[in-house]
Amino acid sequence: MTDAATTAPRRVVTGYRPTGPLHLGHWAGNVESMLDLQADPAYTCFFFIADWHMLTTHYDRTEELPGFVQGLVLDWLAAGLDPARAVIYRQSTIPEVAELALLLGMLTPLGWLERVPSFKERLRDMSERDVANLGLLGYPVLQTADIAIVRGAYVPVGEDQVAHLELSREIVRRCNRLYGEVLVEPQPLLSETPLIPGSDGRKMSKSLDNAIGVRDEEDLVRATVRSFVTDPQKLRRGDPGRPEICPVFALHRKFSPADVDRIEADCRSGALGCVDCKTLLADHVVSAFEPFRARRAELAATPGIVEEVLAEGARTVRPIAAETLALVREAMHFS
Ligand code: SF4
Repeated sequence: MTDAATTAPRRVVTGYRPTGPLHLGHWAGNVESMLDLQADPAYTCFFFIADWHMLTTHYDRTEELPGFVQGLVLDWLAAGLDPARAVIYRQSTIPEVAELALLLGMLTPLGWLERVPSFKERLRDMSERDVANLGLLGYPVLQTADIAIVRGAYVPVGEDQVAHLELSREIVRRCNRLYGEVLVEPQPLLSETPLIPGSDGRKMSKSLDNAIGVRDEEDLVRATVRSFVTDPQKLRRGDPGRPEICPVFALHRKFSPADVDRIEADCRSGALGCVDCKTLLADHVVSAFEPFRARRAELAATPGIVEEVLAEGARTVRPIAAETLALVREAMHFS
């Protein structure tokens, strides 16, 4: 093993595609896990805005990119991500990532990419748009470069994403077999991601138009909560309900922890009606995000804050990236 591999700190890397405002599903699935990692002294966190990855599906909407990047950084900062404790940067400001992706792409067999289920899933889910492009097929190579360029040792993933990371690990292993141990093989850092359903009962998602946004104003939050489907057998107060199949109850688990046992019992007995149950949920969601919204408004009124944070992040990452790329170039006889 080279110094680069053996001396790597416990770096954690995770990125997020800037394709629109965050919703409660992102909050519970990503943001809270990033906050936990940032608070853990065992890790050095690298959180990046994956703007090149945004192109894999939104290459024809780049005019939206500046606003989405700005909005996402403000969301992260308002949520509590702290540039003093985590490196926050924008992927496209680190050109070394692109060169490493090009080099890794040369040694990645096409068959490995074609068998990635999410490639076919994306094609199917976005069948109304033409996204069958080289960028989408090759996104695991770019993802590998994102992790490897900062010598990331860990990547937070849910159970369902371990296979995605495994492909990055395979690419790194192939690179190390061919050219020597130049890259760090990342390990999955399993995180529990609670299932957050949207108003139609499916997984909360921007594209399904079933989401509650973290920036949504109170009136909109209340209207969206009112629109949630519930147990179809519970038509009125007095009817016994089945909280285990109700998306409103799934959100209560997350946002009403102190009341969840009572809600469950009262739903089952029929004592609680769905209208009151939803009002209670809306109260809790609104109050949970009040401090976030106030903090975000303050940050949004601070000129230059996003640019400053991203510039500082790039200043930290560029030397690390240059060092990694130099090792790879040398190992591949490009130095
Ligand atoms: S009372 Fe609440 S948990 Fe029970 S079915 Fe209605 S909305 Fe769902």
